[in-house]
Amino acid sequence: MRIRVVGAGTMGRGIAQWAVTAGHTVELADARPEAVPEAVAFVRSMLRRAAEKGRPAPADADRALEALVELDSPYAAGSGAAPELVIEAVVEDLDVKAELFTGLERVLPASTVFATNTSSLSVTRLGARLTDPGRLAGLHFFNPVPLMRLAEVVPGAATRQEVTALLRSLVEGTGHRAVTVADTPGFLVNHAGRGLVTEALALLEESVAGPAALDRVARDVLGLRMGPFELMDLTGLDVTASVMETVWTGFCHADRLRPSYLTANRVAAGLHGRKTGAGFYTYGDGAAGAAPPEPRVEGGDPARPLTVLGDDPAGLATTDRPSGSALVLVPTWGTTVAAAVAGSGLPADRTLGVDPLSLGTPRRVLAVTAATGRAAVRDAVAVLGRDGHAVTVVRDTAGSPAQRLLASVVNVATGIAERGIADPDDIDTAVTLGLGYPRGPLAWGDHVGPARMLALLRALHEETGDPRYRPTPWLTHRAALGLPLTTPMPPVPE
Ligand code: NAD
Repeated sequence: MRIRVVGAGTMGRGIAQWAVTAGHTVELADARPEAVPEAVAFVRSMLRRAAEKGRPAPADADRALEALVELDSPYAAGSGAAPELVIEAVVEDLDVKAELFTGLERVLPASTVFATNTSSLSVTRLGARLTDPGRLAGLHFFNPVPLMRLAEVVPGAATRQEVTALLRSLVEGTGHRAVTVADTPGFLVNHAGRGLVTEALALLEESVAGPAALDRVARDVLGLRMGPFELMDLTGLDVTASVMETVWTGFCHADRLRPSYLTANRVAAGLHGRKTGAGFYTYGDGAAGAAPPEPRVEGGDPARPLTVLGDDPAGLATTDRPSGSALVLVPTWGTTVAAAVAGSGLPADRTLGVDPLSLGTPRRVLAVTAATGRAAVRDAVAVLGRDGHAVTVVRDTAGSPAQRLLASVVNVATGIAERGIADPDDIDTAVTLGLGYPRGPLAWGDHVGPARMLALLRALHEETGDPRYRPTPWLTHRAALGLPLTTPMPPVPE
């Protein structure tokens, strides 16, 4: 296929590389004259480096480079036949994109399909500026395009079905996965990604723990490749804050997607993360970056008797009775240690919470209340760390940091499914490929169990009174029916 890529910046050059590698011919154009040769040099070096590693073969890399054609204008006639597709990756501005496409409508045949790589603009609104809105769809890639093997295909309200079909088959033909997503704020991946970061910021707002401790929990207990604060520093808080705002306002201030007051000042202060040298972590010469040394709680008594209130799957208890000086460990599930102390008359100064989600993982998470004594904390860390486990101490909260992060991720994903924004399978595929989560969010909820997820969200909702945790009907109904969260919507006659 002959594809014109307009905008030769970060995304345009990645899209060009992806397309020529798959055997397509790419015409590359940009408003800045120097941008195109720079992009071609970039693609050449990437392909050469890939060829040195054996994929693609050197001859294929050479062929791919020959298929890259430099244009001196987005509106150029080009040397061969007219392109069948234009993919736009210019600046994220509706007016600029609309002007580009209306200009292209004047010079290219009516059969040329238009695709926008916008991350946050409405495809329908952009299409409404064209003479023929039916020819335009969103084709949202992820950076770096050749490695992130996913593209969201986003039909606008007027997009013709064959346009969506063409984009899907183009993407799938290259070995990337195509997911079809309704034209809604954040599309699929950026919407699904709000679950983790908004909840992480809520935990920080409430001083449950600091960014480094929360990231350790996210990595070690939830198995995420990157903690949410590390991720925000990598993406850039300016970008993350703007996506949070767009998705939240786009969904009419839905509680589940609520951003945090913490970001505005941090963005104003230039604490954007890696690119400015400082964010939630500090980067640069001698700085520890996102892996600061872990604080150690020393001096505890690893032999102090400990009892567990309720289930003890990890065999932590060394005594049955909370009598004498024994520590009391309360496994919480959406509930607080404070409520357990009050409800069961436990000794407040030596009662701590433990996150059951953490028990099968390398890191155990302890929760302390305002009444927990310091010696009790030291001893509990020593007892729980006895067999080589890392131990993170957090302040008492409904559930635990890991439970809240997981509940938010799963609940947001069920909200996406319920709104018909994407099919359950596509939600899980897109999130694993686009966000690198160890499981898709619906499959993750199923792994924990729909009924257990429902109990968690209900407890969080009851404990906090925050509508953010109200479980979606998608989750509630499937849990009631004993069905997996991945169960699609039943068809009904229209
Ligand atoms: P970028 O700034 O790296 O590149 C944009 C390029 O477009 C520049 O080279 C610029 O000269 C050119 N340009 C601007 N106006 C133009 C015009 N009227 N005609 C031709 N060229 C023009 O930006 P980017 O990060 O590549 O983002 C491009 C688009 O892709 C945006 O819509 C963005 O939202 C979207 N996107 C970005 C990412 C990402 O991670 N960077 C991911 C997905 C989608």
